[in-house]
Amino acid sequence: MAQKKVAVIAKSSAVLGFLKTFFRSCRTYEATYYSKTGVFVKNLCESPPAAVVVEGALIETVADKVTKCPTVAVISGNIARGVEEVISYNVKQYLYRPYVARDLEFKLESAILEKYTLKKMTDEMKELEAVVALTQLISSTLDPKELLFRIVRKIADIMPVTRCSVIRADWLHRSAFVVASFEDPHIAGIKLNLRKYPEIMESLTSKKPVIIKDVATDPLMARVRKTLEPLGIRSIIVIPIFFRDKVIGTLFLRTSRAERAFIQNEVRLLNTIANVSANALYNAFLFEQVEDEKSRLEKLAITDFLTGIYNVRYFYHRIIEEFSRAVRYGLPISCLMLDVDHFKKINDVYGHKTGDLVLREFAQLLKKHSRKSDVLARYGGEEFILLLPQTPHEGAMSEAERLREYVKRHKFRSLRNKGGLTVSVGVSVFPDGDIKTHDDLIAFADNALFSAKNSGRDRVAVYRR
Ligand code: GH3
Ligand code: MG
Ligand code: MG
Repeated sequence: MAQKKVAVIAKSSAVLGFLKTFFRSCRTYEATYYSKTGVFVKNLCESPPAAVVVEGALIETVADKVTKCPTVAVISGNIARGVEEVISYNVKQYLYRPYVARDLEFKLESAILEKYTLKKMTDEMKELEAVVALTQLISSTLDPKELLFRIVRKIADIMPVTRCSVIRADWLHRSAFVVASFEDPHIAGIKLNLRKYPEIMESLTSKKPVIIKDVATDPLMARVRKTLEPLGIRSIIVIPIFFRDKVIGTLFLRTSRAERAFIQNEVRLLNTIANVSANALYNAFLFEQVEDEKSRLEKLAITDFLTGIYNVRYFYHRIIEEFSRAVRYGLPISCLMLDVDHFKKINDVYGHKTGDLVLREFAQLLKKHSRKSDVLARYGGEEFILLLPQTPHEGAMSEAERLREYVKRHKFRSLRNKGGLTVSVGVSVFPDGDIKTHDDLIAFADNALFSAKNSGRDRVAVYRR
């Protein structure tokens, strides 16, 4: 076992003689001797020793610095005065003549043990306070999202972390989500690529805490070291959160290089936090999951299954909204109806399955080349519809022309990179004397499409009275 370091400050030869003999034959401690208080105090601050031995007469000059260390005083002059003095500085362990080696050994031990016990008690007290505070917080917070955030913020309050998050495991989809992060109360539902987080993966599968003391050297982090390096992250703790026997997520804490690494006490505290908040976290996770599912279903309900763009139901919802806005504010609005030319042939030549792929690719091509503010939907079969809010005649015509050319130039992957597909486009624009409703806007685009087909396809036609 490594010897414990003891800093000695003494001047009188009687004291020095006793101490040197003692430490020379002592295997538990290793002494460093100082005669100047300046150097002594400086070293004490820079690398605190396990204990300090002070000659009684010098206690006055170093007292305020040594009080943080386990201290033994060796009284050299008048015993009564010496004892009085060291007691006045609250040094409980002291020796006076005749000095006995066994006595010094015992007093060093006692001083060290006392400090250790005191520190342990204060630490445990702090932990207990944190847990109590957390329990109160859990029982007083109803909003699950707010709760998640409060838990991470509480952890960040009591520990030196640069990042602290709660991760929800999604076993069904083999993924994980950041559901709360103390850096930002609005962070939620960010999907993690677990291949980039081997430490989280390890904790989820082993169901044990994972402690990375140093990202730069830990073998688990080898694969991702390069990505973490610029972030300046030093140590990481991942604590699994259990609900019944299942790991439902983890606490995920990281410190930067500037801060110290995590210590064992903190792991224990985090485990306690994970345990006391498991129920609340489970509820919050369920809530998140339901929210996710809800938005997934909502998205599903407005999406065309084959092409991935909006379905016509959603289009109606939007055209009603946008058309009435256009009427109210006197803004122009246009509508494009697009129909693939001779699509039946594609099905006949390549089969229906390839036909489906072509439609999908066609829809994605239109989506890629239309503006975010435009509403693109599958109108039915091989017909698509595009709503252009705040767009007058010229804008609509050039947009239609642009799309027609993109289609013509596109080499369809689903047709083994062959081109040759064309599209006809019908355009209608509001305001126009005949267009009174959103239904008129659609009907007139359809009419225009009919004339584009009739006049030879692969062209744009606009509705005119
Ligand atoms: P044009 O529009 O130029 O007049 O000719 P067309 O051949 O494209 O028009 P038509 O309306 O006669 O035929 C449309 C074809 O599109 C018929 C139908 O089988 C096919 N179609 C419609 N929906 C789908 C689909 O979801 N998948 C596939 N593969 N084909 C579809
Ligand atoms: Mg067609
Ligand atoms: Mg058609």
